[in-house]
Amino acid sequence: MQRCKQCESPIAKSDVACINCGELVNPVAKKNLRQHFGKIVTGLFILSAALTVVALFTNYVGSFVTCLATTIVLLMVKKSADEMSSSSQQ
Ligand SMILES: [Zn+2]
Repeated sequence: MQRCKQCESPIAKSDVACINCGELVNPVAKKNLRQHFGKIVTGLFILSAALTVVALFTNYVGSFVTCLATTIVLLMVKKSADEMSSSSQQ
């Protein structure tokens, strides 16, 4: 049985935070979520970049400018997500 670091209350394995005081049981899970988010953003960025290239040659995907704007926004989100995950490791 796992116990809360703050108040020593018993915690179930499925609990993310302590029922008694709200202390997070496993901060590592938050970090994994952040890394997972980074992977999703990277995937979306690659997809968006590919669509931008496709949009250059065809009109099926939509406006090239829209795709380019989406790619730039995703690049900025990816950059801030990378900074977040690297700062949390320090
Ligand atoms: Zn507690």
